[in-house]
Amino acid sequence: MLSWEEFEEKEVKPVKAETQEKKAEPAPQPQEEQVEQPKVALQTGSLSDRLERAKKAVADFDKQTGEEALQGMGSRVDVDQKAMINCRADVNQLVPFKYDWAWQKYLDGCANHWMPQEINMTPDVALWKNEDGLSDDERKIVMRSLGFFSTADSLVANNLVLSIYRHITNPECRQYLLRQSFEEAIHTHAYQYIIQSLGMDEAELFNMYREVPSVARKASWALDFTKELDDPNFVTGEAKQDKKLLRNLIAFYCVLEGIFFYCGFTQILSMGRRNKMTGTSEQFQYILRDESMHLNFGIDMINQIKLENPHLWDEEMQDQAAGMILQGMELEIEYARDTMPRGVLGMNASMMEEYLNYIANRRLVQLGLPEEFPKAENPFPWMSEIMDLRKEKNFFETRVIEYQTGGALNWD
Ligand code: FE
Repeated sequence: MLSWEEFEEKEVKPVKAETQEKKAEPAPQPQEEQVEQPKVALQTGSLSDRLERAKKAVADFDKQTGEEALQGMGSRVDVDQKAMINCRADVNQLVPFKYDWAWQKYLDGCANHWMPQEINMTPDVALWKNEDGLSDDERKIVMRSLGFFSTADSLVANNLVLSIYRHITNPECRQYLLRQSFEEAIHTHAYQYIIQSLGMDEAELFNMYREVPSVARKASWALDFTKELDDPNFVTGEAKQDKKLLRNLIAFYCVLEGIFFYCGFTQILSMGRRNKMTGTSEQFQYILRDESMHLNFGIDMINQIKLENPHLWDEEMQDQAAGMILQGMELEIEYARDTMPRGVLGMNASMMEEYLNYIANRRLVQLGLPEEFPKAENPFPWMSEIMDLRKEKNFFETRVIEYQTGGALNWD
């Protein structure tokens, strides 16, 4: 595992070699003494006596052990006992609410539910298959965007469920993390749906995060922060460990979702504004709306952890956080230069650089840190309008199939 100093010095490199190395390692086998036997005996035998055996097993079930397990969950939870991290109160008691902002975001996320198949991809298929439909530069942007995003949301989902979830110790935030995890799955579904609709080379697209340097460097940068928490023995509780969790949250929410998505999204949405790849662009609009909520939730979560644990937010941590935002911005500027070697779609790499300066300022301020680029302005104000897109504004005009969001089960 890299120390922060090593991370600061290390050159960001593609993840290819390491991914291959990982595959060669055999899966660790659990030690025999660690395998716990279930409290209810699982027997095998003929079908005829199955019920008798089940009755006997239930009668033999060690009631005391089961009750002790529930006792271990604690007692009725008081609001004051709840905490963002290192909380020992029962995480299964959603109410009484302490973190209303997290619950509200869960409700808002559900209210924004959408599915990729609802969007009409027919015009995109025709345009993509027409040799004169798009310029080479425009095609490159579509390919790179799908290449980066097709795996980026999967990296986020894995980090959420495998690294973050168990360390966030209150049910309101966990409820949102579960909703967010599903949204990440929908986003990966959307990219797969676009790639399939356009008849692209799936292997090429899904391997770009390992094979194309400007894409791979972003993925590799974020993966280093997952690695910090990857060890199954990793626990929070000491400041050094809690700071690792905080760095992971900043890396994924503020940089990956808060900076690495912005060049590709701006390019594809600009294409949609020019009436090109309108289905793809619409998919990206819904994803961006979800992503801006993920980002806001992440910022709230980080700031709440800071509030409850002020000792973690010392000068060193503030310096590291600001450094991470700036590193993320630099990687995204590299990506902008790689994907826009010359002007395209009314924008170019230096306009994108200014936009990313503006975005970096926003992220710094959201974390309570000073701006780095006081003169930076937003060259793409239309992006903010799209992020605030409300479902009812045009969702039902463009959807192509009906789906059921709830209620109306038929019991006949
Ligand atoms: Fe996300």
